[in-house]
Amino acid sequence: MIITGRVSKVKKIIREVVHKGKSVGFVPTMGALHRGHLSLVRKARKDCGFVAVSIFVNPVQFGAGEDFKRYPRPFKKDKLMLEEEKVDLLFYPSSAEMYPKGYSTYVDEIYLSKVLCGGFRPDHFKGVCTVVTKLLNIISPDTAYFGQKDYQQALVLKRLVVDLNFPVKIEVLPIVRENDGLALSSRNAYLGFSDRKDAGYLYAALQSAKSLIDRGQRDPRKVIKAMREKISAIKTAKIDYIKIVNARNLRDLKKIEGKVLIALAVFVGGVRLIDNIIL
Ligand code: AMP
Repeated sequence: MIITGRVSKVKKIIREVVHKGKSVGFVPTMGALHRGHLSLVRKARKDCGFVAVSIFVNPVQFGAGEDFKRYPRPFKKDKLMLEEEKVDLLFYPSSAEMYPKGYSTYVDEIYLSKVLCGGFRPDHFKGVCTVVTKLLNIISPDTAYFGQKDYQQALVLKRLVVDLNFPVKIEVLPIVRENDGLALSSRNAYLGFSDRKDAGYLYAALQSAKSLIDRGQRDPRKVIKAMREKISAIKTAKIDYIKIVNARNLRDLKKIEGKVLIALAVFVGGVRLIDNIIL
């Protein structure tokens, strides 16, 4: 596995790979890798002749007071995991390489990114769109792989690549979960013992929503009420949002019909967790 933090070196490597006729698969991450990330890497390895992974804790997608500084950065462990997955290239840039002195260009999606998480983390998706635009320009992948765990992010990025004419296919893969249903996340490491146990209620709330809807309930307010009740079992819960929206445009629904996203963002023990299901 080649490891580099240099944009110019990555571009040179990719030129050679493309010249040899290999397809390029790309998995962008912020590191602290877990089985969720690895599911994307494995799909890329299966599909593509050359697999690139980036690890970059992108400062511009964190708001003031968020966890940029304390975000876990277990680089050695991540590197070993990627070597085991037979990744070809690990791009591991510094902030100065990505945002050198004088940097002043940002990419903003202005419709899908303004609701759900965008309502609580105002510049988050602008930071995501900016870094992913840069990464797609640096790596030039044929396919880029993302997780449904960040459904809104994937939808925003699908929009971005269409709007900005990137010749890349976006693949979105299912959420990998713990035994109790908790979605794997690098931030789960922040959870203490009892908060970790409580965090399982988030998936239970999503499942209770699904079973209500399966049994014919079509009123989003009633379903959300039942979810709030489930989540109230978590003593430390602070709900940012629980939403049932049209999965294509993320707008609120009066009646549950069509392709629906049930999404939540809840602080458990001070740790902001997100999860979702699609029906
Ligand atoms: P992150 O390192 O949190 O920026 O995530 C990098 C990629 O991994 C994103 O596309 C995430 O949606 C995806 N991802 C994170 N957690 C999971 C999970 N539990 N299952 C599947 N994909 C995930």
